Amino acid sequence: MPAVEGVAWQRLVEHALAAQTRVWGGSFNLVVPMGWELADDELFWRLVDRFDPDVVALHLPTYADVEEIAPDKYADVIAQRDQQLRDAGFGDDTRAEAISRLHDELFWGMQLPPALQSRLVERVAPLRLGDEPRSVYVNGTTPPQYPLTDIAVLRELPASVVDVRSTLDDVNRLLLTHAVGRLLPSFNGALAERGITLTDVLIEHEEILLSRIWPPARGVFEHWYPRLLADIGLVRRLSVADRDQVVVVVGDEPRDFLLYHGLSRLRPYIYWLPATRLANEVFVHELAQAARDAIQREIGDGDLAITTASSDDAAAAAVEALKGVPGHNAPDARLVEWKTLVPQSYVWSADHKSERRVSLLRHGGETQELHTPTPVSVSTDNPSQLRWMVDVEVQGWCPARHPSLGTQVLRGPVVTDHDARTSVNGPSYFGLTPFVQAFLGLEGSTARPRLRPRAVVEQVADVLQPLGWEVSLSDKGTYALQSARLFGDVEALARALRSQATRALLDAYLTQTTTNDPGKYLKDTRRRYLSLEEAGNVIGDTDVATLVSELYDHDILVRGHILKCEYCRATSFYSLSEEQRFTCVRCRTGQRATRLSWLEEPEPEFRYALSEVLYQFLDNNGQLPLLVAYDHFVVGRERERQPFDIAFELDLTSPEGQLREHDIVATWGAELWLGEATVSDRLDESNAEEIERLERLRETTRALCARGVLLVTTSNRFSARTKQNVANVFADPARPDVIYREAFDAGSLAAAE
Ligand SMILES: [Zn+2]
Repeated sequence: MPAVEGVAWQRLVEHALAAQTRVWGGSFNLVVPMGWELADDELFWRLVDRFDPDVVALHLPTYADVEEIAPDKYADVIAQRDQQLRDAGFGDDTRAEAISRLHDELFWGMQLPPALQSRLVERVAPLRLGDEPRSVYVNGTTPPQYPLTDIAVLRELPASVVDVRSTLDDVNRLLLTHAVGRLLPSFNGALAERGITLTDVLIEHEEILLSRIWPPARGVFEHWYPRLLADIGLVRRLSVADRDQVVVVVGDEPRDFLLYHGLSRLRPYIYWLPATRLANEVFVHELAQAARDAIQREIGDGDLAITTASSDDAAAAAVEALKGVPGHNAPDARLVEWKTLVPQSYVWSADHKSERRVSLLRHGGETQELHTPTPVSVSTDNPSQLRWMVDVEVQGWCPARHPSLGTQVLRGPVVTDHDARTSVNGPSYFGLTPFVQAFLGLEGSTARPRLRPRAVVEQVADVLQPLGWEVSLSDKGTYALQSARLFGDVEALARALRSQATRALLDAYLTQTTTNDPGKYLKDTRRRYLSLEEAGNVIGDTDVATLVSELYDHDILVRGHILKCEYCRATSFYSLSEEQRFTCVRCRTGQRATRLSWLEEPEPEFRYALSEVLYQFLDNNGQLPLLVAYDHFVVGRERERQPFDIAFELDLTSPEGQLREHDIVATWGAELWLGEATVSDRLDESNAEEIERLERLRETTRALCARGVLLVTTSNRFSARTKQNVANVFADPARPDVIYREAFDAGSLAAAE
């Protein structure tokens, strides 16, 4: 929502929040005050990322709205208009009519700056029209427009609604509407028409107001407050991870309010202390009491996190002010950086009763048509007035959130970027078809796309190939892919590499000497071959027969004999046929194995060779990027329970013909990450080459709209030069996240201890 000269931002934001009361699901929308450079604001992007919007709404008040928001400004403009008409010679009646016609017209127009629009598309992949997010205008005079759902047409409205207003100042009114919502005149009228009893409560004292909004839960929500109307039939999904802290946001700026508002929709126990209220004893006292109550009753113990988006001085003053409030068991207040308080997880509200679980058949890479669920908890007389998004969750698979992927993973004749996207939950689409026919009812009016699950490597190709890139799996990538197939999947391969016994055995095959022990080393093949006994010596206490037979069953170990050719004397490793025959790899002579072939032993000894793809995978250090990604996501972010997928090393050629290999291209849920892994303390020997490599990485990151970059080394740390280059190349604070993993141990887990 835009900033307007001469109108307090608190009033505009309050009105925008009140307008959300009439939008189904609106009470958990992020309302963003404007008036500063959003396109570069890290706070804005972190919050938008977590809210994951489907559409962008612009709050554009009408003349009627402005009459309420800023009566003085309204009076000035109307007087001016009247004078103009008077000067032009119009009579009283004509002038009055012209002015009354203004009532529903927009007071000011506004569009998002193009740079902000295209960044929104890149970063959160909302529904879109080309480079522009799908947008809708919201005001207090007209009902919410398509594709939003107007609460006033729902059949499930309560019999009575309590509307709380206040005669206090702008900050208090903003706090009140933020907590309980407010009925704007048009919504008020629409509810009255529906026969709903409206009870007005007027609060004239700050103490009473504060005690009603803090704590924001329970007490206040005994009645149907306007904000709850927006949530009819919806359940909010909130991570339990963020219930361990009570937070006070300090500051007077719109940006501080954005932080407060955003956090309070993402996690519980959030309070706002405007800097101008620091000297207000009532305000500080009520806030301190409420925050202490929350800590003692809800969390058990802990301290108070004080943060700010604008003024460290104000935050420091708040710490002192809150300490100064008497009371027993007063918790310590401490300063915390706001970034640490934005939750990792996402939050959204959904009609959980309409959830469906189905099995889908897949044919030619696509499923049958999805059986689109309709809202169960709410209904309307006219089916086209009920509008909703469908989130598709697929067990074990989630596409990256990217503006190009919506129409790649959701397919059908009428599926467009305007109705389909990839969200943080997976594929999402607008539930109604574009051609609603009332006589077909709601079930007959649903969109029915098919689903096309794509692996991460296919998604990368889906995104990059239309932009003129070439995408292919490198040799190293092929070894990794085949190795993962041997073990079953990527996670099984990673677990095997982290298992002490399995890893010791695999590493034995990679021993960098040309002599026997472990096993027998053959100069002709430059590989080694272990007997069961030798394998047992390598792995120690573990049951060697079980382990070796497991690996044998997966074709990871190949059983056979070392045999010498009778004709050309070449020694190699063979699995004998039923007739005890083998064909020499050097001279191609077929022959029957005899005592001569098995090197004077009394009988041929069984030995095990390592699968060649796995040998190549390990020999090329393929375990390093795999284990980093596995460790970082599957192990490190286990609580989030997201599907994991990794495209092993890809060769990407940009439209300009520049080749770049990236060690890690992985998805964790809807997040796409790129990464580089090295055993050195730098990413390239020369400074110039390192910078070029990083610039190419950034270019790929942008094309793929990647969420983050993992930089990994097995060395103790990256050099200062490398980190400086990274900081210079990835200068945008909001995206991508750059994470270093230093001194990474790609060995087995027990060995690392
Ligand atoms: Zn031979």
